[in-house]
Amino acid sequence: MKIPTQIINQLKENFSVDVSAFELSHTQIVPVSVRLNPLKPACGFGFDKQVPWTSNAYYLPERPIFTNDPLFHAGCYYVQEASSMFVEQAFTQTVDASKPLIVLDACAAPGGKSTLLASLLNEESLLVSNEVISTRVPVLTHNMAKWGSINSMITNNDPQDFSRLPNFFDVMVVDAPCSGSGLFRKQDDAIEHWSEENVNHCSLRQQRILTDLLPALKQDGILIYSTCSYSVEENENMCDYLCEKFSLEPIKLKTSPEWGITETQSEKHKTFGYRFFPHLTQGEGFFLACFKKITAEENTVNRNQHKLFTKISADEDAAVKKFINAYNLDFVKFYDDICGFHKGSTYAVNKITSALKIKKLPLHIGQLKGKDFIPHPYLAYQNRINNGVTKVDIDASVALQYLRKQPFLLPDATKGFALLTYKDFNLGWFKNLGNRINNYYPAEWRILKEIF
Ligand code: SAM
Repeated sequence: MKIPTQIINQLKENFSVDVSAFELSHTQIVPVSVRLNPLKPACGFGFDKQVPWTSNAYYLPERPIFTNDPLFHAGCYYVQEASSMFVEQAFTQTVDASKPLIVLDACAAPGGKSTLLASLLNEESLLVSNEVISTRVPVLTHNMAKWGSINSMITNNDPQDFSRLPNFFDVMVVDAPCSGSGLFRKQDDAIEHWSEENVNHCSLRQQRILTDLLPALKQDGILIYSTCSYSVEENENMCDYLCEKFSLEPIKLKTSPEWGITETQSEKHKTFGYRFFPHLTQGEGFFLACFKKITAEENTVNRNQHKLFTKISADEDAAVKKFINAYNLDFVKFYDDICGFHKGSTYAVNKITSALKIKKLPLHIGQLKGKDFIPHPYLAYQNRINNGVTKVDIDASVALQYLRKQPFLLPDATKGFALLTYKDFNLGWFKNLGNRINNYYPAEWRILKEIF
């Protein structure tokens, strides 16, 4: 792999990077790491050691076939590159997470940072995971649904749409689209697509994204900005751009010397940046910086609230409560689905729903069709499902048949809707009709590949 000379020269001049060690690291195997879901921590593989800057993540000795592990499909863990988990440090060192917070993950697909953030927030808080590119929303939705948190919703908006919510978010994570040089080792095609023109194109896009989003951050709110690029134009220079355009206070984070993170400062405003180089940290190239917003916006846009929610009927209420522990939850009808959210986030959910294009609310519970309640596929991943709901535990081979939507047999199942579980972790719904079993696992989620 020939790393572009422009990158090598910049790293040498600006950060005194040991070029031969940096280049050598690009010939080495990419570390594999998983982050466990605190709501259902389990993994079908043995661990090596812990990722030191995150509370719940581990390196694996080698890359297994995750697709063949039913626990992966149950949302018990997320396969995530280790450096990017540093967002946890940025969040926990700058935010009081015991309070109810409204958090935006502005560039969220496929959901690595969002699943991490959802686990750091309490139930009364609300995470808005936004993805502007519609074709990338389904993978984000699937990953967030599997994660099973009740505090997160998904939107599909352009950054400029967030001007409808001035002074609204307590925390904003902008993991910006970038030129991707930090992933040269991991993604074969990243190096082919790299060019100086693309770095400039990305930095202009980052400026636009940040300029559009910043008004939606509250006074004293925290901005966490990150990229997987090595280019100064997308990192330290972007921090300087932000400080010129907005009143922001750069935040210094604590790091441990053993982590191997390189602390940098931007040229003009001396903002603090945290760089991950693969020859110094066990992970891919990554950059992160944090800021506190000093001023509030003057404009308060008052849009008419359009009502997308209607009340649920008494029958729907009764049906829902058979499936889910309703403590502290509000229920509404959103199009055909009965949905829910924590009472503590009702105000925020309503405000967001009237301003943005919603792709997923915190809870989708199901639909009442005649006398039948059809549980929503997302509901299967919730820890709040009532004990009265029938569960059938199966082995890995039946689990994979179910997840591939192949025929499977369950000799002892009682009639009606029930959950299939593997090692007691929920995989999804099925309905036993007596003479046959209907598989309610969504077709768009099914495993397509046979991997051995
Ligand atoms: N945060 C994600 C995670 O941890 O899994 C990765 C995000 S990726 C680095 C950047 C995201 O920004 C992509 O999902 C991409 O679709 C989105 N994006 C692309 N162009 C954008 C734009 N103009 N405005 C906002 N987001 C954009």
